[in-house]
Amino acid sequence: MNTVVPAEAGVGGPREARAAAGDDVVLRAEHLSVVYDGERATRAVRDVTVELRRNEVLGIAGESGCGKSTLAYALMRMLRPPARLTAGTLEFRDRDGSPPVDVMALDGPELRHFRWTKLSMVFQSAMNALNPVTSLRKQFGDIFKTHVPEMGADEREERSRALLEMVGIDPGRVSGFPHELSGGMRQRVVIAMALALQPEIVIMDEPTTALDVVVQREILDEIERLREELGFSVVFITHDLSLLLEISDRLAVMYAGEIVEYAPSDQVARAPAHPYTLGLLESFPDMRGTRRQLHGIPGSPPDLRDDLLGCSFAPRCSFAFDPCAIVDPVLGPRFPVLGTGLDPSSPPAHAVHVPGDGDAWTVACHLHDPTRCPSEPPAALRGGAHGAAGTEQA
Ligand code: SF4
Repeated sequence: MNTVVPAEAGVGGPREARAAAGDDVVLRAEHLSVVYDGERATRAVRDVTVELRRNEVLGIAGESGCGKSTLAYALMRMLRPPARLTAGTLEFRDRDGSPPVDVMALDGPELRHFRWTKLSMVFQSAMNALNPVTSLRKQFGDIFKTHVPEMGADEREERSRALLEMVGIDPGRVSGFPHELSGGMRQRVVIAMALALQPEIVIMDEPTTALDVVVQREILDEIERLREELGFSVVFITHDLSLLLEISDRLAVMYAGEIVEYAPSDQVARAPAHPYTLGLLESFPDMRGTRRQLHGIPGSPPDLRDDLLGCSFAPRCSFAFDPCAIVDPVLGPRFPVLGTGLDPSSPPAHAVHVPGDGDAWTVACHLHDPTRCPSEPPAALRGGAHGAAGTEQA
C-alpha cells in the first residue's frame, strides 16, 4: 500500500475553504444497483445512494472487488455488458442554475456531450488509457473533434499545448508518444485530457496507485492545484484509506457492493463508526499518532454471486452479535456521541438522518441501531480507542 501521511484532520487548509465555498449538490445517485450477468449474476453494486457537492472531494474507499470502479462506470453511464444497471437514478445540477438533468434519460449525442463536458474520468491505468502508438496531438485532437466538432485545427493545437503546460509538461511534447513519457508524466497527460473540456466533475479511479510515493505526492499536489484553479468537484476512488483521509472532504466506505459508512473524512479519521472502517484504519500506521499494534482484517469478502443473508461483513467482524447473521443492516445515523445523556432506546432528534444532508454521518451496522443493540457501541467505535491502544507499530 502506498501510504501518505494523513494530514491533521480538520485543522485549517483547503478542506475548510472548500466547505465554506458552498455545499450545493452537483451529482446525486440514488439506489444504484449493478449486476454482471452470467450463469450466476454478480451483484457488484447494491443499492448505493451517494451525492457529490460542488467543489468537494468525495473519497470512495474499499478493498479490491468491493464495487468502487463499477460504481464509477455507472456514474459515467459507461457500463458495458455483461455489466448492467438494474436500478437507480442519477441527477446532475449545472453550476449555471439550469434545471437538474436526469442523466439516466440521456442518450446518443446528449450523453456524449454530457460526458467530458460535464463529467469526465481519469481511468485506472495511465498506460492503458493512452494509445501507445498515437501521438498526444492526435489523442487530444480526438477529444476536441468528438465533443467540439466546430473547433478548428489551429485552436485544437493551441488548446492541446495549453493543457500540457497546465499539468507541467513541455508543450513541445504534443508531438510525442505515450511510450516516451515516464509513468508520472503519462498520468499528468491523462489528467489533462480529463480536464480538456473543463468539466464540473472528474472521477479519478485509482489515479496514483501504480506510482511510487514521491510521484504520487506530486500528482496529488497537481490535482489539488488544478481543482482550486478550475473549481471542479472530484470523486476519488482508491483502496488506500490513508490517502483519502488526507485529501477528501467526505468519505464513502464500500464493502461487498454497498456503502457501509458515509461521513465527513475528518470525523472518520477520529472515530470510525463501522467495524470495517475501523479494521481498515487499524491496518496501516499512523505516522503522527501514538505507536500501536497493527491489525489486518481476517477472512475475505463474500462472493457477490451468492445470496447474502444478514450483514455481509459478519463472518469477519469481531463485534458481531445476534441479529448480524440474519438481518441486513441499512445505512442509518451513527450512534450519538457519548456524554449527551441520550436514551439508547429511542434515537435522539439530532441523530435522525436527513436525506441529502451532506454532513450527516451514516453507518450500516446494527451496533448503531438502538432498536437492535441495547447498549452503546464498543469503545473502539466511539472514538476512544482508535489510535490510542497498543504499544507498537509492526
Ligand atoms: Fe459487525 Fe454486526 Fe455491525 Fe455487521 S452489523 S458490522 S456484523 S456488528
